[in-house]
Amino acid sequence: MYVLNDKIKNLVPYEPISGTYDIRLDANECPDNLPDDIRAQLKARLDDISFNRYPDPLASRLVASFADYYGIDPAFVTAGNGSDELIFLIESAFLQKGDKMLVVAPDFSMYNFYSSICEVECDTFLKGEDLEIDVDALIEKINRDDVKLVLFSNPCNPTGKGITREEAVKLVTSVKALVILDEAYMDFWTESLLDKIGIYSNLIIFRTASKLVGSAALRLGFAVADKTVARAIQAVKSPYNVNSVSQAFGEIIYRNKDYLQKRQKTIVRNKEILYNGLMEIAEAREGFEPFSSVANFVFVKTDEAKDIWTFLKDRSIVVRLMGAYLRITAGTEREVSAVLAALKEYFEVNA
Ligand SMILES: *Cc1c(COP(=O)(O)O)cnc(C)c1O
Repeated sequence: MYVLNDKIKNLVPYEPISGTYDIRLDANECPDNLPDDIRAQLKARLDDISFNRYPDPLASRLVASFADYYGIDPAFVTAGNGSDELIFLIESAFLQKGDKMLVVAPDFSMYNFYSSICEVECDTFLKGEDLEIDVDALIEKINRDDVKLVLFSNPCNPTGKGITREEAVKLVTSVKALVILDEAYMDFWTESLLDKIGIYSNLIIFRTASKLVGSAALRLGFAVADKTVARAIQAVKSPYNVNSVSQAFGEIIYRNKDYLQKRQKTIVRNKEILYNGLMEIAEAREGFEPFSSVANFVFVKTDEAKDIWTFLKDRSIVVRLMGAYLRITAGTEREVSAVLAALKEYFEVNA
């Protein structure tokens, strides 16, 4: 009988929360589907797709559209089948047996998960009580332990906090390690290091179409890096990693700049409404502690996390439960009002 090896024998397939709910605030997705006019552009483009042909390995038109949206050189950009693919790819290709990588905690759990499959030693740098990264201490640890790759989300999922450009530059310029900043949520903040690509050879930035861009279904992620690193990523990826439909659709969506900018403003405004509402609740409730956020969600510390999560779920509202924390995505204005109303109801019932 075939025996699974130790590193995979206890793994189970990823299962998002099952069932249907009126309000989904658990995955930080964009709350609205793409609007009719963009969907019409996508439908029209379908007629041009050669379904019998393999996709463009470099996704050139998609990459050009993405690079134009962010005002960067397309030569720095590699498209992936979601950032997920790029995380796995870079951890497996840029590290060799015996190399050490470093993640921070709390942070996105996939970084650590893939390291175990790649059989790479992965150490964890803990954030303080305030959930901030002490950048000087991080630099010291990277250099002391001869870390080869450090990877974290900025802004951070799940905390909603971020390090500034100044801090990020200090980190990148103070270590020899490859520094990967996952800027999945940087569309909602102002501290991107995209304009530093080409200056620092040890920097990779990830971006995604799954959050602001509202296209999680297409699975589009991007790695942005200096040309030598970008070419290496392109050389190790599987040739046809991004399918032709996603390439064509992504190209169109990133061209709709006005739409993306308008949506950015709406989501940031709804996040503020959510945060202010949560702070109002916090004033009346000891031990309910929302953290200010530069992303499209708010992280809340509360001893009642499980009870609140269940209460909301019974009202067909799902948020993300993470131990003694809840992570609540900024949905539409209606959804934000609904979750705030339900939380107030919970605290009335459990006064
Ligand atoms: C949502 C998210 C992504 C996006 O991943 P995709 O595979 O591109 O959908 C990447 N990083 C973080 C931290 C995220 O929360």
